[in-house]
This record gives sequence, C-alpha cells and structure tokens, in this order.
Amino acid sequence: MRKKVIAGNWKMNKVLAEANQFIDDVKDKIPNNDNVEAIVCAPYVHLPSLVDKAKGTNVKVSAQNMHFEDNGAFTGEVSPVMLKDIGVTHVVLGHSERREYFAETDETVNKKVHAAFNHDLTPIVCVGETLEQREANETKALVGDQVKKALEGLSEAQVAKTIIAYEPIWAIGTGKTASSEDANEVCAHVREVVKEVTSEEIAEQVVIQYGGSVKPANVDELLAQSDIDGALVGGASLESESFLQLVEAGA
Ligand code: PEP
Repeated sequence: MRKKVIAGNWKMNKVLAEANQFIDDVKDKIPNNDNVEAIVCAPYVHLPSLVDKAKGTNVKVSAQNMHFEDNGAFTGEVSPVMLKDIGVTHVVLGHSERREYFAETDETVNKKVHAAFNHDLTPIVCVGETLEQREANETKALVGDQVKKALEGLSEAQVAKTIIAYEPIWAIGTGKTASSEDANEVCAHVREVVKEVTSEEIAEQVVIQYGGSVKPANVDELLAQSDIDGALVGGASLESESFLQLVEAGA
C-alpha cells in the first residue's frame, strides 16, 4: 500500500523564530508509523536550522525550488548540491506560482527533476490547470502533458520515487477545493499517464498528492479517494495544530 505524504508549503511566510517554533510544536506529535510522511517545505534561509531541529524526528524538510545546475554564475539561485549538503531531503518543483511569476516551464522542471535525482533529493512535482483550461475541458490533456514532460528521460526507479502533486490552479489559496471525486479523477489520470510512460507496477508505486485549499475539514474525504495519496498544503500548513491534524488524517 502507498503511504500518505502530507507536505506543508509555507511559501514566503514565517521568520526564523516562527519556523523553529513550528518544528518544536510538532516534532514529538507526528505519528511514528510507515503510513504517513510529514514534510515541511520552507524558505531557503530557514532550511539549515529546520534540518537541525528535525533531526531524529519524523519531520522531513523540503526546499520550495532550486536551480538545475550544481554551481555557477546564477546570482540569487540555490543549487541541489547546496540543498543536499545541508541535509534537505525533498524539493518542490514547478509549483504554479513558480510557473506563473518566475517563468518556470515544463523544460526547466524536467531539468530540475533530473538534477534532484542526481543529488538524491526527492522531487515533489506540481502540475495543474487554470480555471479557463478546466472550463475548456483541457484538464486531463494538459496535466498529462505536464506529467510526461516532467518525467522525460527518468529511469523507472526514479519515476517510482517521484511525488506528483496535482494542484488545480483555481483551487490554490482561493478556498475553492476540487470535489474529492473530481480531484481523484485527475489523480487517476496522472497514474494512467505514469503507467503509459513506465508500467503498471511503477504507476502503482507513485505517490500522487492533491493540493488546493486542503484543510482539516476536507482532508479525510480527499485522502479516502483511491488515487489520492496525500496533500500539498499551503495556508492550512502554517499553523502547527492544523498541520498536525492533516498529518494525523493520513496516519
Ligand atoms: C499550495 O501552496 O501548493 C497550495 C495548495 O496552497 P493552499 O493550500 O493554500 O491552496
């Protein structure tokens, strides 16, 4: 059975003292079992401190982005080598806010996914459609294409380890959630696409999260769906209490 993966994406929120306090608040309360994995996706500057604080606990620490090169003249960027060096385990790639505001493309996402695996980081790859695309009935084609491009050139073993987050853009930070059936239908389609490019055995192993206004009140229904293996959560992951409730829902 696939484990549930709950990742809290803090985006550009919290100063260091708040970030540290969050780990102190949750670290002894995260369920200690193989059913659920809890990940905190924090701003770069907090990562060394959070990795240190989370040592020996069940909380994993993720970056929210990275460059695909190991080093070089890329002012303001952070490389996979640097993330690995400080003990980060995961990295969010292709979040819709990166695609919209920072010119992230399917091609750069693919390069970053390769770079992540080259440095033993687990990528959490975000895909999802706009409201216009959903209304034009383009969701499955678009999301399928994003998934194929993100996974291009990976080995089957790497695909099996990739976490894919289906996040309809119209549901991010808006309070609007896709119905659990609609979310599951797209997540099942993502699994079909993974099967097409690899095999049924690999597709069955891939963790597919849903993201978009997930909160304690709707997480149970979403996680009860056949193809939703966790959640990527923005707003509701900022408070330690609600993050814990989300993780407990997956346990
Ligand atoms: C996100 O940041 O990926 C997200 C889904 O945000 P929210 O939960 O606030 O909609």
